[in-house]
Amino acid sequence: MKLSVVIPIYNEEKNIRPLFQKIKETLKNDVAFEIVFVDDDSNDSTLSILDGLSRQFSGVVRYVSFARNFGHQTAIRAGLFYSKGDCVLTMDGDFQHPPELIPLMLARWQEGYEIVNAKRKHAQGIGYFKKITSCVFYKMNNVLTEFKIEEGVADFRLMDRKIVDHINTLNEENLFIRGIVSWLGFRQSFVEYEQPARLSGVSKYTIKKMFSLALSGITSFSVKPLRLALALGSLFSVFAFLYGAYAIVAYFLGRSLPGWASVLVSVLFIGGVQLICVGIIGEYLAKVHMQVKNRPLFVIKGQSCDGDELHE
Ligand code: UDP
Ligand code: MG
Repeated sequence: MKLSVVIPIYNEEKNIRPLFQKIKETLKNDVAFEIVFVDDDSNDSTLSILDGLSRQFSGVVRYVSFARNFGHQTAIRAGLFYSKGDCVLTMDGDFQHPPELIPLMLARWQEGYEIVNAKRKHAQGIGYFKKITSCVFYKMNNVLTEFKIEEGVADFRLMDRKIVDHINTLNEENLFIRGIVSWLGFRQSFVEYEQPARLSGVSKYTIKKMFSLALSGITSFSVKPLRLALALGSLFSVFAFLYGAYAIVAYFLGRSLPGWASVLVSVLFIGGVQLICVGIIGEYLAKVHMQVKNRPLFVIKGQSCDGDELHE
């Protein structure tokens, strides 16, 4: 049995070596493992550290390096493509996913669960903004899509080779891994953990990246926002019709109509709603547009010297 550990890395120079040491200590000699680091085009010394590690621990540490920043989710996907183990663990490279949990996750996999999700119970060192936006995202996702994601489940997960092979067949741009795991089915288990603060550095998930992840998560698995736009449009049409009828009746009764303010407010409001609806449609259209180009999911500029072709 061999375990692959996939770790996406973006500017984590101070975290890589301590994390590698910790994983090595945790797994001791009990488990055969490899670590596949995916460098998401870091601009600190990450790449040279990865290169050094892969030479020192040849066969255990491998890496691939992206030609540009393709993002966390794509980095995980690349790691899945290059992993060779019978089961594959994905985790962050900043110590927020504690390596101590790996033996328990492995035990669950050995019990027969194809997917073992780590579920964050408490989180230290993250601000209220992140907590609130994350909570709103999980709630919205679960209302809008039929593939539920448990709150606190991110991309700290152990998957059987079967699952990884399924994911590797997908050619979807901006694949939302949490969603696709829920979509795939199979037997899932959950283990809870306390999330510590980052060892070093700051979060690489900017507000823009978080927003884009949330949007891609929802639009990849549901067309409900489009239906919502339709429903909203219909509702306003009914209002407009009723108001029109009222205006005609009021005219014939000789009552003066209210002034400009109400007209202006309703015109602006309906205009805004229309723009939002067009925006929602545009979001889906953009998805189709990007997908039909059928570009590769990522481009690599280098890899460890013993790094070989993709796992088939
Ligand atoms: N990451 C990445 N590409 C990015 C942003 C982040 O590969 O564009 C990596 C990052 O190095 C870390 C993991 O993804 O290993 C999670 O990112 P981060 O810890 O910054 O996110 P947070 O925990 O704050 O949500
Ligand atoms: Mg983090």
